[in-house]
Amino acid sequence: MSRLFKRTKILATIGPATNSAEMISEVIMAGVNGCRLNCSHGSNEERDQQIKWIREAAARKGRSVAILQDLQGPKIRLGILKDNRLDLKVGDEVVLESREFEHDGGLIVPVQYNLAEKCQVGEPLSMFDGKIKAEVIEIVSNTAIKVKVLNDGFVMSKKGLNLPDTDFDGDILTEKDLADIEYGASCDYDYVALSFVQTADDILKLKQLLLSHGSTAKVVAKIETKKAISSEANLESIVKAADGIMVARGDMAVEAGAEVVPMVQRKLIALCRKHAKLCIVATQMMASMVDSPEPTRAEVSDVATAVVQGADAVMLSDETANGSYPLETVKEMKKVILFTQNHSRLAPIRQDDEEREIYPAISSAAARLAEEIDADVIICQTASGVTATTMAGERPNVPIVTVTSNTRVANQLALIYANSAFVRKYSEDFGYDLAVELKASGYLQTREGRKDLTAVIVSGDKNKSGTDTIKVRKI
Ligand code: PGA
Ligand code: MN
Repeated sequence: MSRLFKRTKILATIGPATNSAEMISEVIMAGVNGCRLNCSHGSNEERDQQIKWIREAAARKGRSVAILQDLQGPKIRLGILKDNRLDLKVGDEVVLESREFEHDGGLIVPVQYNLAEKCQVGEPLSMFDGKIKAEVIEIVSNTAIKVKVLNDGFVMSKKGLNLPDTDFDGDILTEKDLADIEYGASCDYDYVALSFVQTADDILKLKQLLLSHGSTAKVVAKIETKKAISSEANLESIVKAADGIMVARGDMAVEAGAEVVPMVQRKLIALCRKHAKLCIVATQMMASMVDSPEPTRAEVSDVATAVVQGADAVMLSDETANGSYPLETVKEMKKVILFTQNHSRLAPIRQDDEEREIYPAISSAAARLAEEIDADVIICQTASGVTATTMAGERPNVPIVTVTSNTRVANQLALIYANSAFVRKYSEDFGYDLAVELKASGYLQTREGRKDLTAVIVSGDKNKSGTDTIKVRKI
């Protein structure tokens, strides 16, 4: 039975290619567990509409779906260029000016951010996803810097800039982010992701802001700056401060070099498992499917690797936002996930000699018990979701069905490894009751030749010590 459940989740970016009730419904039916709404593009009105469509589709499917608001952060972009394009040659000296003006085709170029406040002479700067490399040679005014171009090429309107060595000094939230955070707090978001995080402080500031606006969303740190990955201690402190991370491989490759990405991915998945945090592997997972109906062998291998490493979720960006084959991509991804999980086993990360907190110790014991008795399902009763995430941190090779009375928590768990979350009214035995219900509905099926399901049920009394009980039940 457990073979049918997809344990690694799919997070799909919604964009023009999926911007309708029908398409959103279709990708969710095909296996999407979470939707990313990107604040870098589109309007609040569009996102409001998308949230409504996602909730309706999830309700029709009868399953929780997570919605993630992705904040742009200091993703610095060029302004509008004359004829949309500017050719550049080695040695060109380009002024990047943040004051508003109309570009005349020359080497004074509009940029949407005041770089003069943050940049130092000698720092590298790249444009258009690293296609143009340059170096800062002068701070020309309060609002402009001058860079020297290091290779031939061209840039286009609104293309992004990367400043791998520039220190934003704890000041990464832009005016736009602050407005998006405030507006977003009144919307039905389960997660808020922040781009270009440098330190744990960036995350703590965002959490504070969300709290002050009354948001119940959890926070995802996008790991993509050179600063974030500069030391293991910094990386681990970000993981601990956040509720989850995204391995944002696109910008990370531009900032730190493509060769560092695979090892950072490995490290981050391990850190997230250690601290029971959500880990999303993102960008170019099936990029060729933007205009091809089939993925490349390398892309299939990339998705399989994330599964074998134990990522909670794999993400689609352009593939579902702008591609010609959004639905096909989701179906392909799901096929790769299912085949890979059914032909591999994740090793537990438990360290037997290590002293543990009560929750992880109970989760570890329950996961081990479930595997030892070859249980069909682990049932988690949870109020906050902590029991379910620590259980998922163990990466048991057994599906986890979670029951909670909190809709927000259930939606958040939709992205967590192996978790299927259901919302039911709280009772002491609502885990057992749900298992009975799911067996009757056919969602949980007994294995061939067996009459009963074996369930390991983890529960606790929320008014006493929290999670403290492991039961084994035949259902
Ligand atoms: P983005 O983040 O798509 O918002 O840039 C992901 C990445 O950089 O990989
Ligand atoms: Mn990015």
